[in-house]
Amino acid sequence: MDTRLPIRIGPLVAKAGSRVTGLVPVELGGGQRVHLPVAVIHGAMPGPRVGVTAGIHGAEYVSIAALREVAMTLDPASVHGSIVAVLTANPMAFAARSIYVNPMDGTNLNRVFPGTTDGSPTERLARWITDHVIAGSDVFVDMHCGDMNEALVSFTGIENTGDAVVDERSTELAEAYGLHYLLIGPSPGTTTTAAAALGIPAVLSEVGGQGRWPAEDVALHAAGFRRLLRAAGIVADAPGTPRHDTEILRTEAWMRSTTTGYWHPAVNVGDRIERGVIVGEVRDAFGGVLESPVAPVEGVVIFLVTSLAMNSGDPLLALAS
Ligand SMILES: [Zn+2]
Repeated sequence: MDTRLPIRIGPLVAKAGSRVTGLVPVELGGGQRVHLPVAVIHGAMPGPRVGVTAGIHGAEYVSIAALREVAMTLDPASVHGSIVAVLTANPMAFAARSIYVNPMDGTNLNRVFPGTTDGSPTERLARWITDHVIAGSDVFVDMHCGDMNEALVSFTGIENTGDAVVDERSTELAEAYGLHYLLIGPSPGTTTTAAAALGIPAVLSEVGGQGRWPAEDVALHAAGFRRLLRAAGIVADAPGTPRHDTEILRTEAWMRSTTTGYWHPAVNVGDRIERGVIVGEVRDAFGGVLESPVAPVEGVVIFLVTSLAMNSGDPLLALAS
């Protein structure tokens, strides 16, 4: 493909050496439509294409702030190839300050990839992102953080696709991001699974959470993404060097509440706990203990729900090892 040709995303047309931004309409069925804020940075020099999304979960603010910062400050004159960035991939969830799901249909966008063209609004949104942002990219990145009700350790995640070339490239790109933990999939229904199915190296990245966007978290996420862009051959300069002491985690166990009540965790994110440890209590409105969930495996607490409110079936935390 001639990378010098203009890049077209919906109504946006980005010629080589330019940054074009705008709201791209996506039809979601039943006359419903969403407008995605998209930035296309088409470099002056030929090179690969990086597709990137933030805000797949609408209340994950560090990822949204970090991607906007990088996408709007890169100089197209010094960019090789291109970046197609969806700055807020789930605007309805963002506007509603919605945890986990798109309020249009109560569906988690990162569980329905690659999506469908004739399904629910969230399934159609996933399909649009698959077709216009993931497909056609040489590298795909999905920036997240803990949701409004979650704390987490910073980590990157990749799929184990079975294609050694793709997996090695994804690992290099994740190490370039420079976060301590690297979680190796699978994670069905996610963006990175959709990318893997297309043979595209892809990285999930997670920094921060709890509905906050402190400058240091935004800077950490942004610097990681810039290093990934350097490793992808998009830019020559980026802060810091890739780390080679990444701790790889291959199994992930999510613990869910079996009762509705008040959540009192007894562990913190980053804690390494043994199998059989009581991780906290779900209590009733008067403080009586409803359940004392026990770690089913040993592992590092990679995310922890921090809201007092807890619903039966909701995640409490995840352990990875
Ligand atoms: Zn997320």
